[in-house]
Amino acid sequence: MSLLGPAEIRDLAELLDVQPTKKLGQNFVIDANTVRRIVKVAAVESGDSVVEIGPGLGSLTLGLLEVGASVVAVEIDTRLATQLPKTVELMHPGAPLTVIAEDALRITELPDAPTRLVANLPYNVSVPVLLHFLEHIPSLQSGVVMVQAEVGHRLAADPGSKVYGSPSAKAAWYGKWRLAGNVSRQVFWPVPNVDSVLVGFEKREVPLGTEEERVATFGIIDAAFQQRRKMLRQALGQLLGSSQAASEQMVRAGIEPTARGEQLTVHDFLAIARAAE
Ligand code: SAM
Repeated sequence: MSLLGPAEIRDLAELLDVQPTKKLGQNFVIDANTVRRIVKVAAVESGDSVVEIGPGLGSLTLGLLEVGASVVAVEIDTRLATQLPKTVELMHPGAPLTVIAEDALRITELPDAPTRLVANLPYNVSVPVLLHFLEHIPSLQSGVVMVQAEVGHRLAADPGSKVYGSPSAKAAWYGKWRLAGNVSRQVFWPVPNVDSVLVGFEKREVPLGTEEERVATFGIIDAAFQQRRKMLRQALGQLLGSSQAASEQMVRAGIEPTARGEQLTVHDFLAIARAAE
């Protein structure tokens, strides 16, 4: 079975009268080698149930179907969502595809209990969409996503790194993240003005804490990184009542009140949340 190349992508876009929009992060992959590489890095196998966010014209969708996965695809652009089953039926008749025409941020459940997430994510909402799926789709175990290089480096960053921030700490709540390679701008149409990387994740088998603890921990992470240059007892002062109260809570958690957010692991943030009285 063949995949979509530059000519097919342009023909489809013309057929649908699609002018790719920046607002929806519409940069379509026009290179079959890149598609096969993503599917390989994600270790997708025949019989896997995969969720794809933002299938667009279907480049990656076809790559996932090619190896025998079943795909649930969530696409916000109704023209693209309507065309996708037709494209797939033409190129890969009978392939197991379910298309949901919806904003990925509004998805709270999916059919087929997908275990893998594989996507070329819309750049402007990549982190919120990822965190949303990790939160709402408990069947997910692992995934590989293509994101803007800067975002990918943040997701995979460890404490102490310059780019470690709120997305890094929140992503670490769900599991382990790794950079899985650079992607040239030339594989997209239109060519974006940023570089891309592949990022892989493996979800924790046992959640780090309860949902209540996650919400409290994420609140602390947000406060810590809103004022990342400040010592934590100051950055958390407003959230926890006063800088004195924040200091006491940190001491109870075994964390130095003069520490800065960029030095703490997600376990440290959770320990602070758990030390509330
Ligand atoms: N997967 C395709 C590919 O690799 O060629 C398209 C990737 S393109 C970077 C991102 C896709 O996400 C677009 O098709 C866009 O319409 C869709 N999209 C943007 N925002 C979305 C959202 N909130 N929910 C679902 N899909 C969205």
